[in-house]
Amino acid sequence: MKKFFKTMLAAGLTTPCLLNAQPLAEAHHSSPVNADTTMITYLNNAAKKEFEYTLNMHAHLCKHPELSWKEFETTRMLAAELDKLGIPYRILKRGTGLIAVIDCSDPDAQTVILRFDIDQLNVPDEGKKLYPSDSTGISAACGHSAHTAIGMTVAKILLPLRQKMKGRLLILAQPAEELITDPGCKYVIEEEGILDYPNIVGAFGLHVTPNYQSGDVHLAEGEFMASANEMDVVFYGKSGHVQGQKNTKNTIHAAAEFITQLNIIRSAHSDPFQPILLACTKIHSNTWANENSNLVPDTTSCTVIFRTLSQEYLKEMTRRIRQVAENVANSFDQKVEFKESPGIPTVKNDPELTRWSREQLINLLGAEHVKQADLKMGGDDAAFLSHLIRLVYLRLGSGGAPEFEYPLHDKRFQVNPACLPVGVSALAYLIYQKMAF
Ligand SMILES: [Zn+2]
Repeated sequence: MKKFFKTMLAAGLTTPCLLNAQPLAEAHHSSPVNADTTMITYLNNAAKKEFEYTLNMHAHLCKHPELSWKEFETTRMLAAELDKLGIPYRILKRGTGLIAVIDCSDPDAQTVILRFDIDQLNVPDEGKKLYPSDSTGISAACGHSAHTAIGMTVAKILLPLRQKMKGRLLILAQPAEELITDPGCKYVIEEEGILDYPNIVGAFGLHVTPNYQSGDVHLAEGEFMASANEMDVVFYGKSGHVQGQKNTKNTIHAAAEFITQLNIIRSAHSDPFQPILLACTKIHSNTWANENSNLVPDTTSCTVIFRTLSQEYLKEMTRRIRQVAENVANSFDQKVEFKESPGIPTVKNDPELTRWSREQLINLLGAEHVKQADLKMGGDDAAFLSHLIRLVYLRLGSGGAPEFEYPLHDKRFQVNPACLPVGVSALAYLIYQKMAF
């Protein structure tokens, strides 16, 4: 499995920058694909018929959210559902998440992956919600409850169609999407061999998006979601009583200067044609000094978050952050160390498969409901798949009313249930068309 990851890293580091990604409209020259009207009617009806199933599962996961790598009850619930449906699966070795398999005719001919994430967030509920959380401080604030419910419904409605489909459908209920330091998607590639199946022709997934209307699906080609990286920058100085300033080296002062100087990267070194997100989100000095306000702390750590829409540019910005920190440490006569997480690459939609998907979705939903996705600085660990195999990651509009338009990760965020059957029919139709004889 390691070879895939190495390929990913290689691919990630040589990914063309955002400027090379073609806008969908310009790149869209292929002849339209034919509408499978019988299947469109069938799947739209099936998605409506199963709406209660989808909604109940979404509501259940909103009420009983579980954090990354702790999705034990969620996994048990999904396993029980798969048992009822008669779909074989294996629970991942770490005990959360699973891979289910629907073998259609000639299973080794091709493999298609349906990927959804099952973890929720340590964000407390706030405001009036349709399905408030029962767990204090945890909620489905990124809508993964909806992704799971949609994915399971897709499996349920495609199962009876498997005689009309060729190949193998893998259903990946993926844990721990939310962690930059230990992302679930990287784990299933490296440790669970999700990409060892033969002839993988594509993967499909989606993410709810509250600033898009429910009923709409948005797509973009190329890199369209940011890489997600973070680095702890730790300053080491010298402690002592504050009155003896001459003999101390105050690391809070160095850290403050470093944070201010991050703006130099933006104003002097950034490429005006490339977006960058750069923020310090945590600062800690050593505890014993914090408890004694007249003591100078000899260690201060700053967590810097940085995101770009190009892997090359990310490398350049990482170098600049280190350079600024080293310069500041020198001028304060202190030492600095960096603890960098490997991070998550950009999410890249395969251009050809995306153009094909767009045509299919226009046939399913009508052109007025299939839109160009804008670039987002949010990351997603589906990125790991996207640099190894052909991925199409849809943005499913989940807004449409003020109570559904709070941003992802906001305490008040919730999904408009009206988007659920749209997500179901969209993914089911794409997978069916990819696998039909
Ligand atoms: Zn998410």
